[in-house]
Amino acid sequence: MKELTDLAVDTAARMGASYADIRIIRINNESVSAKNEKVSGIGKSEDEGFGVRVLANGAWGFASSSNLTRDEIQKVAAEAVEIARASATLKETDVVLAPEDTHVDVWKSSYEKDPFEVSLETKIDLLLKINAEMMKVKDIKVANAHMNFMREHQFFASSEGSFIEQEILRSGAGYSATAVGNDDMQTRSYPDSHGGQYMAKGYEVIEETPLLENALQTAEEASALLKAPRCPERVADLILGGSQLALQIHESIGHPTELDRVLGTEANYAGTSFVTTDKLGNFQYGSPVVNVVADSTIPYGLATIGYDDEGVTAQKWHLIKDGLFSGYLTSRETAPVIGEERSKGAMRAHGWERIPLIRMTNISLMPGEWTLDDLIADTKDGVYMETNKSWSIDQKRLNFQFGTELAWEIKNGKKTRMFKNTVYQSMTPEFWNSCDAICNEDHFVLWGLINCGKGQPGQTAEMSHGAAPARFRNVKIF
Ligand SMILES: [Zn+2]
Repeated sequence: MKELTDLAVDTAARMGASYADIRIIRINNESVSAKNEKVSGIGKSEDEGFGVRVLANGAWGFASSSNLTRDEIQKVAAEAVEIARASATLKETDVVLAPEDTHVDVWKSSYEKDPFEVSLETKIDLLLKINAEMMKVKDIKVANAHMNFMREHQFFASSEGSFIEQEILRSGAGYSATAVGNDDMQTRSYPDSHGGQYMAKGYEVIEETPLLENALQTAEEASALLKAPRCPERVADLILGGSQLALQIHESIGHPTELDRVLGTEANYAGTSFVTTDKLGNFQYGSPVVNVVADSTIPYGLATIGYDDEGVTAQKWHLIKDGLFSGYLTSRETAPVIGEERSKGAMRAHGWERIPLIRMTNISLMPGEWTLDDLIADTKDGVYMETNKSWSIDQKRLNFQFGTELAWEIKNGKKTRMFKNTVYQSMTPEFWNSCDAICNEDHFVLWGLINCGKGQPGQTAEMSHGAAPARFRNVKIF
């Protein structure tokens, strides 16, 4: 492999590149799904190719191919340099990269059970049992269940001498029940509505998650929602369940702290950010109980890596410390723009055919001191909401509106009525500054998100968000 990566880097240098890197990647995927007690899909795929990224005349060039031969590597490396030269005719300033040490290393996700070695029968059997459990409940017209596994094997090499081999394994499963009746349709999902729960683990994540154990209750809740009232419009205290909070962190802290969005270099797909660079170190993003940490090293996180796609070591740092905005997600190109000496290592690409972008790593809200029971008991007039159903947030990530599958009214410290179709609305800084209580680490779950979209052409990325339920005061709920 080293011979091939050297060929790419040497070719680019000979053509006049001042910097070059190559990623050679193989991705294996397996997915299994079942619907209404029948297998509805089995998919297996393998994808292999390489991408070469270069700097020439102070601008980026990128080219890629699925044909991993010596001739093709030389052709693609030369093409990347030509693209860089063409880009350079439109540049405003030269790209300057923050320094990074040379790394020669091998890094692999740890796991116990290789999911690609577990039989299809075992997987199908569990999914059908989950379907059957949900279909026991009257009103359930659609029961879905699925599991997915992905292995990414990558070689990275750069003209600075780094040569890194990495293998990342991601596994997960989820299901949903849809009830129809009473002139309505309601869906409940488990463990989360965005494809289920995923971790950088092997098949053990499927065995450790109480999937079958929760299927009946999930279906019963979908059925109960048909008869539940809508939440009357109010301003009240809001307690968010962990997986909804994970999405809240993703949309209102993760995306706006991507420095390429802030600098306006990646705005096409989903906008820019209100977190302008003058706010670094002096903007009260949240209340003093809010501590948000970006961490590419946390065990089992979907974005846990040894090195990012620029060969920068995985790191851990605060985005928000005691409520104060204190850090961005950066790359080698953007770190110097805000006066930082080193990239935080947040550059990742979707597969071999895309150029790396700043992507969220694992971003978590640090746990507090409360138990959920105590938090509910301490709330006089409130609503508890869990499992995302809808979301909307503006281009700058300021105004948002999120809906959840399920909500409970809290009156004088007790959960009373169930509400359906409940939505909360707020503005990012106002919302995080209204956070006054976070549950403790016994409630802390690392929620995996597998479908974050960014860039044109579009790229998807995976990351985890750790969260325990938390309370927000005086939020508009309807
Ligand atoms: Zn996203």
